[in-house]
Amino acid sequence: MSYINQLDEATINKIAAGEVVERPAQVVKELVENSIDAGAGAITVEIKEGGISFIRVTDNGKGIEEDDIDNAFMRHSTSKIKNIDDLYCVTSLGFRGEALSSIAAVSRVEMITKTAESIMGCHYITEGGIKQQSEHVGAPSGTTIIVRNLFYNTPVRRKFLKTPMTEGGYIKEAVERAAISHPDISFRFIMNGQIKLTTNGSGKLKDVIYSVYGRDITMNILELEYSCQNYKISGFIGKTNVLRGNRNLEAFFVNGRLVKNKLLSAAVEEGFKPFIMPGRYPFCCIGITIDPAYIDVNIHPSKLEIKFMFGQQIFDGLSECVRNALTKRPPIIEITDDDKPEKQETVEYHVNIEPFEKKRFSELVMEQTALYEKAEKPQQEKPVQKDLFEDLKTEGTEKKSFNIVGQLFKTYWIVEYEEKMYIIDQHAAHEKVIYEKLVR
Ligand code: ADP
Ligand code: MG
Repeated sequence: MSYINQLDEATINKIAAGEVVERPAQVVKELVENSIDAGAGAITVEIKEGGISFIRVTDNGKGIEEDDIDNAFMRHSTSKIKNIDDLYCVTSLGFRGEALSSIAAVSRVEMITKTAESIMGCHYITEGGIKQQSEHVGAPSGTTIIVRNLFYNTPVRRKFLKTPMTEGGYIKEAVERAAISHPDISFRFIMNGQIKLTTNGSGKLKDVIYSVYGRDITMNILELEYSCQNYKISGFIGKTNVLRGNRNLEAFFVNGRLVKNKLLSAAVEEGFKPFIMPGRYPFCCIGITIDPAYIDVNIHPSKLEIKFMFGQQIFDGLSECVRNALTKRPPIIEITDDDKPEKQETVEYHVNIEPFEKKRFSELVMEQTALYEKAEKPQQEKPVQKDLFEDLKTEGTEKKSFNIVGQLFKTYWIVEYEEKMYIIDQHAAHEKVIYEKLVR
């Protein structure tokens, strides 16, 4: 009697599903990545009961040809690579051809898809990986995939799931990260009938950061921009007042792919080291653009891990870039039309400076302005910083010409001085004053 069995396709797919989809959030991640790879400009994710009973991902991407749908659900079938050489220049998020087959093996999947060229869409249903139906339907171009009853036929895996609320939270994070790595795509996330996230697809990372992390963080971030021959860095880091006790606010993307990478975290933390206490972690949202030939993404089925060819170079570049952003003098901001707030949130204006505060503020404002003045006129003979302050302070007329008009968002002062308006971040000003005192 023989002991060695050849496993059937359904069993192989169920085992593979264990690697690719451990929990509902991974299903969402895979489906959203497929939508991104399909060139979608808008993606909606809807879930119920933490994604365990219901996940819907709808996109307006290129759709799947009717004749290709059976293939799409087969293991190791992909439209994204043809052979091993393609793996070294792959620019899509998927390429292993495992997601749809794995998801279908452990749930009931419904797909409605239509390409721009075809007149009719196709409504396709599989259950436990076995095709149940394929028929024509009227549908817009793009693809909708609905996943019901996840892990209904793998009860052990289902038992390992956490509460719907926790699983829903993981899904929310997965959608947020997809949105951050693709500011040019408009995302919408609906949980139990409620819209939890929308992004506008404007292409501006700062807009997505606002939608995902809110106003407080968005007001306290610094932009990074760096490029060299082998790679490019862009994104934002939080100022040193946006810290956490864990790395939850660190996000890295390599060629639009969310990655977990110790080297990148270590590089950012190295840049922050002189400014923050050990055990505190910064906010960052950093994208690296690099020739795909210099990275290896095929280390793990979920493709979260990544290896770099010029690891040390990237470490040095990134940590320096972070340090520079943190030490740079705050620039004078010119307001352009682009910067005007266009968000849905109601804006509250606070003009509530007490007389006792006014005195303190005007001193801070004066020191700030002195610094700005100095920065604006480099051609003048260099007055020592201290002298400049003394001059200003002793000339009472100068002092009087300041007028604090008000305060915005409990954060910015609007200051009238000579013929100009200044918008001053009071926290930054306070930090600057402390810094100048220390330097002196
Ligand atoms: P992979 O993404 O690694 O190629 P998947 O199993 O995730 O493998 O998907 C299989 C194939 O199905 C993809 O290569 C793609 O051609 C097609 N596909 C899946 N989802 C979509 C979608 N939302 N829009 C268009 N095509 C899709
Ligand atoms: Mg895929």
